[in-house]
Amino acid sequence: MPKKLSPRWADATLAVHSGEPKHGRNAPVTAPIVRSSNFTFASTAEMKRWAEGKSKAYIYTRYGNPTLAVAEAKIAELENGEDALVTASGSAAISSALLAVLRTGDELIATRQLYGGSYRLMRDVLPRMGIRVHHVEANLEGVDRLVNAKTRALYVESPTNPTLGLVDLKKVVALARKHKLVSLIDNTFATPILQKPLDLGFDLVLHSATKYLAGHSDIVAGAVAGNREWVGKVREMMISLGGSMDPDPAYLLIRGLKTLEIRVRRQCESAMAVARFLERHPKVGQVQYPGLPSHPDHRLAKRQMTGFGGMLAFDLKGGLPAACRFCDRAKVFLLAVSLGGVESLIVLPIYTSHYRMGTAELAAAGVKPGTVRMSIGLEDSGDLLGDLRQALS
Ligand code: PLP
Repeated sequence: MPKKLSPRWADATLAVHSGEPKHGRNAPVTAPIVRSSNFTFASTAEMKRWAEGKSKAYIYTRYGNPTLAVAEAKIAELENGEDALVTASGSAAISSALLAVLRTGDELIATRQLYGGSYRLMRDVLPRMGIRVHHVEANLEGVDRLVNAKTRALYVESPTNPTLGLVDLKKVVALARKHKLVSLIDNTFATPILQKPLDLGFDLVLHSATKYLAGHSDIVAGAVAGNREWVGKVREMMISLGGSMDPDPAYLLIRGLKTLEIRVRRQCESAMAVARFLERHPKVGQVQYPGLPSHPDHRLAKRQMTGFGGMLAFDLKGGLPAACRFCDRAKVFLLAVSLGGVESLIVLPIYTSHYRMGTAELAAAGVKPGTVRMSIGLEDSGDLLGDLRQALS
């Protein structure tokens, strides 16, 4: 991994400069795409050194690649980790990390409110491998009771998808330390701009880099950050499972990361304006945005985040028909899944991330039929409010 930059530099500077190849005479300003699946050795002696684990030479892009390394260095710097790894998708990052940590017979404790895909992995896939999963609410009540000799890890998401609940991150770390568990967090919604879980003592931070890190809705990508030892173990698992990133999306990820700080700050501002507007609207029920004083976790958000994020959810008083009408009438907001891009998006979680979930599962996830989830993009906030006004009229 390229040398780390000064820890005194701010995120915006780190995002632009960390990991970049050396600059100088004839050197390009931007990192090139090394579009090669394999790398040459100068001699068999060098090959032997690689085989003995004595050389960090590139061999094959699934194991590592110079373009990927630039993205990895930026993410490691931003998350304040010793190391980072990029993967083909957020789901590859999550499955590689969980399988690096867990073995048959182990137990995992996870919060119940999770990205639907992570929840399904824990519900449908991990048990088939003999890994038992227990879910707790976001307040982490019951963790002490659930821990036994087989419990290996504690997994959380904060803010949660799609209802923007918060988990007290210091509490997660304290519980993990008390019970000697590996702590993992999906930091996709907050990004390292708004919270740095490794600083609080988390072992592994995971991302769907498809979202804010890349930021332009044009790639599917994932990332893992943490200490050298844990990231090394996840890399080994990723190499075995095959969820590696290609150099082309890595370039787009690097490009996106350079503007992460300014995008996230602007998205926070616009999301706040949208949340305030929705909260006052007569057709709107509950608005879930951690920046609103009415949000149950507002004080916690102020304590553990440096901004409230670009995601929000709200319920329409008219239920599913009103939510469908609103989504079908919106013009600036696009009706599309995913989040964290420059375009503002709306979705109905019951038809997207939480599809085919029973009533009890939906209730536990805090999702109602009329819940709308929003990802705020980079459009003018006046235009966003105008669109909401007309779509709700
Ligand atoms: N984590 C969160 C919070 C997500 O929202 C998503 C995708 O929507 C994922 C993980 C999965 O990431 P990917 O779609 O890049 O595999």
